[in-house]
Amino acid sequence: MSAILIAEDEPAIRRLLATILTRGGHEPAFAENGREALAIVERGGIAAVLLDLGLPDRDGLEILSAIRSRHDLPIIVVTARNDTAEKIAALDLGADDYVTKPFDGDELLARLRSALRRAGHAQQADMPMRFGPIVLDGARHEVTCRDAPVTLTPREFAVLQALVEAGGRVLTHAALLERVWGKAHVADVDYLRVVMRALRLKLERDPAQPALIRNEPGIGYRLAD
Ligand code: CA
Repeated sequence: MSAILIAEDEPAIRRLLATILTRGGHEPAFAENGREALAIVERGGIAAVLLDLGLPDRDGLEILSAIRSRHDLPIIVVTARNDTAEKIAALDLGADDYVTKPFDGDELLARLRSALRRAGHAQQADMPMRFGPIVLDGARHEVTCRDAPVTLTPREFAVLQALVEAGGRVLTHAALLERVWGKAHVADVDYLRVVMRALRLKLERDPAQPALIRNEPGIGYRLAD
């Protein structure tokens, strides 16, 4: 079994994370600083990393990009504050997800499971993709939701495709805007709001209480199962 690396300098939080991971059937491994974390990942046998961004020796985002530049494994960032800018930076540097302290153990395990699942199946390009009730066929430009065909505009389709490909991971506003509208529009968050409203009307059971397309305030969007 591969281990989940806990990169965290505070002993109490290390212990708490280890307890949560063990309860979820994972084997924990430990690093107290960034240098150690990088060395352990290099050694191999690590399935995913829970990375505290406030480590004593090196900037957390620097450690994140150092791991990401060499490895594909899921990285879930653990942030102390509800620091939106830091979360966005982490996601844009390739973090798979984030949790904010104090975190809920079950939520952490759910995020970890879904990150590991995504890492497990590399998408086959021509196959229809699924997420929850959505089936999206990129080759035919067709979408069904709860087995009913859904008609989308090209922008709506492109946004939904990005979200389905992310498989539950948060996509930042800038990442979605760049992908669908291009680099010149990375700040045009209103474009996204319009498309999300339309997608929710077409896909959600109750568009007033969206359960499928989730807003992460100030950060971006994700699909939820
Ligand atoms: Ca810390």
